[in-house]
Amino acid sequence: MAGERRCLYCARKIAAEDRVAMCNLCYVGHHEECWLRNGRCSTFRCPGTPRLMAGAEYAYALAAALEMANSEPRACPLCGERAYAGRVYVRKTQSGENPIGTVLPFVVVRRVASAEGGVLRRLASKLARTRQWLLSGAQLHGRSCGNCRTLFLWGAPVDDVYLINALEQARDRFCVYCGVSMWTGEIRLTDARFWSESVPEFHREWLLHNLLDRFVYNRWQVRVKAIPASSCPQCRYTEVCGRPVYRFG
Ligand SMILES: [Zn+2]
Ligand SMILES: [Zn+2]
Ligand SMILES: [Zn+2]
Ligand SMILES: [Zn+2]
Repeated sequence: MAGERRCLYCARKIAAEDRVAMCNLCYVGHHEECWLRNGRCSTFRCPGTPRLMAGAEYAYALAAALEMANSEPRACPLCGERAYAGRVYVRKTQSGENPIGTVLPFVVVRRVASAEGGVLRRLASKLARTRQWLLSGAQLHGRSCGNCRTLFLWGAPVDDVYLINALEQARDRFCVYCGVSMWTGEIRLTDARFWSESVPEFHREWLLHNLLDRFVYNRWQVRVKAIPASSCPQCRYTEVCGRPVYRFG
C-alpha cells in the first residue's frame, strides 16, 4: 500500500534519492533543505526535531515510528489499570462498497481557508459544512484502558487538551500524496468501539474467562464522540494531529 509521499513544506514528492528530515514528534516528512529553509517542522506548533534519513527509508521509518508510539502506555496513567492495544472502528451498517465492514465517518466542519475571500468562499464553506465521507475499512490504532475506557492515541490520552491540539493541527494541512489542501473536520466516533487485540483479563477467575473475554468483552464503547482531523477530498488520506489514520497509516 505504499504511495508516493510529499513534503509538507513544499508539496513536492519525496523521492527515494532525496535526503529526508522526518519530525521526531509528528513524523511528517520534509526534504532536508525544506526543513532547513523553514527552520522547524511544518506541522502547526510542532516543536519536533529532525531525524535525517534517505528518502527510500522514510516509509519504513514512518510505519515503525507510528507503531512504537502506540506501544505506550501499558498501564493507564489515570487509574492504574491495564491499557490494551487495539483499534477504534465503526461497524458499517449498509454493506456494499466496503468489504471489510468497518468505517470511520469523516465529517467536514469547515472548509480549509482558500485564497479567494468574500461571498463565494462563504457560500462554499456553507455548502461544505454538511459534507462527509466514509473512510472505508479504516481503523484508528491506539490503546484503551480496560477500566476507565480512556483512549490513547500515539501514547497520549485523548482528553480536552488533546482535542484542542488536534483541532489546531487539523487546519491548513496539505495532502502528503496529492499536495492539495485538506479539509478540516472531525472523525465521528458515535457508536465507535474499541477492539482490543489481546484477550482482556476482566474475568480471570471465571471458568469461561477465555471465551467471554475473547469474544464478548474484548470491545467496548469509545467515550470520546469526535476527534478533529483533516482529510484529503481527492484520495481521502486523513490525519489526526498530523499523523496518518487512513491510507498507508
Ligand atoms: Zn520539500
Ligand atoms: Zn513535527
Ligand atoms: Zn484507566
Ligand atoms: Zn490526497
